[in-house]
Order: sequence, then structure tokens, then C-alpha cells
Amino acid sequence: MAFPESIKVQALENSAFRCCICQDLAADVHHIIPKSKKGSNLLENAAPLCASCHDLFGDNPAKSKKIRQMRDYWWTIIKARTEFVVKTGNIEEHIYVEIDPNSRHLLKDKGIVFYHAILPKDTFEDAARVMFSSIYETQKKYPNQERYMYIDIDGHRNEKGAFDHDMYELQCYFNLNVILPYVTRIYSPLISVQNKFPQRNDIPESLEINDPKESKALTKDKLTFKKSNKY
Ligand SMILES: [Zn+2]
Repeated sequence: MAFPESIKVQALENSAFRCCICQDLAADVHHIIPKSKKGSNLLENAAPLCASCHDLFGDNPAKSKKIRQMRDYWWTIIKARTEFVVKTGNIEEHIYVEIDPNSRHLLKDKGIVFYHAILPKDTFEDAARVMFSSIYETQKKYPNQERYMYIDIDGHRNEKGAFDHDMYELQCYFNLNVILPYVTRIYSPLISVQNKFPQRNDIPESLEINDPKESKALTKDKLTFKKSNKY
């Protein structure tokens, strides 16, 4: 049995979507103790690895201890870095997972992964614009490669602990209607969804977010999203 999706996502988030051995982009989440040796499907046994490190260390039980030590070390660094970024509000380094040009050929079949952490101070529009420009810029830089978007949300909860209106709308409506056609898969805390169709690469030049009180005609060269007052 493979890891449940929630464990995979948690392991990837703990790693900032990097390989915990070499910090290249993580290709997948691997079992530290292999499944054939009755390794569990718990987070404890999960290590995100890139394709190269998987080939070197993958299911080799002799290397399990080393992988676990390096994973724990890397997760500690990422946790501290995330806390620092949240505290200082400096999100730049968290927007993109930068890809080492030397490993691009390795990733070609794996697609481009990008990660965005939405912070408590970010508005709907802030988040939507970063997501839109991520797909737009990625298409320019790495044309037609499969895109995978990971969204994490810090704060934005109402008094009942549910997502506030903006973040609910972002995940359930904006992501599914505006972003999903242009990516292969989106992961967000509420919804993780695979695009049933081939990813579109004809990304419009700009994104327009309309006030719910105004109504504007849709145009072809723009992606348009009309915000709602409530659901
Ligand atoms: Zn690696």
C-alpha cells in the first residue's frame, strides 16, 4: 500500500517540497523502511526524495538510518525557516521552488512543482495574483511542462475554526474554475484535485478579479473571476 495522500502532502510540506538528501525538487515520497520489509505508511516512515537520490538510496535498507537522520535534520531546518518567514512576513523565498538548471533534465517527466504559502495578512487578491503569475511565468520559462501547485494557508480561520470566506472561495471556486485548467494538479488544505483533462498551456496575459457588485463582460485575453459576497 502506498502512503495516504494526507501523509504524502504532510511529508512534502515538512520538506518544503525538496529532497531531504540533496534539496533538489522532491519527485516522490518514499518509504524509509521499504514496504517489502513491512515499513509503515505513517509520517515516521516517509522521506521525500528526488529522482537521483531515489536511485541511489531508494529501497536500500542499509541506507535507511542515514535517510532518516538527514530527513529529520532537513525537516528541522524547514520548520525553523517557516517560523522565521511567518514571523517576519518575508514570503519571497517561499513563493517559488527554484529548480537547479543542472537537474532540469531529471525533472522533465516529473513536471514543475510550485508551492505558495498564504499568510494571515494576505488578501484573496494577493493570493490569487501570486498563483496566476506563478502559472504564467512557469509556462514562459518551462513551456508545456506539467505544473503541480501546492497551496498552504496560515491563519484565515473564523471563530469556528473553519476557513474564512476568502480562503474558502479561493480553494473551492477560484482554484477549481480559474487555476485548475492550467495545471495538472492542485493541492490545498481543503481540496486536492487532479485535472481530468490535459493541462492547458494557452494562459491568458492577465487576471481580472471583479467586485461582486459590478458586472463586466468576459474577454478572451483575460482570465476573469467574479468574487461572491457569500456562499
Ligand atoms: Zn536528492
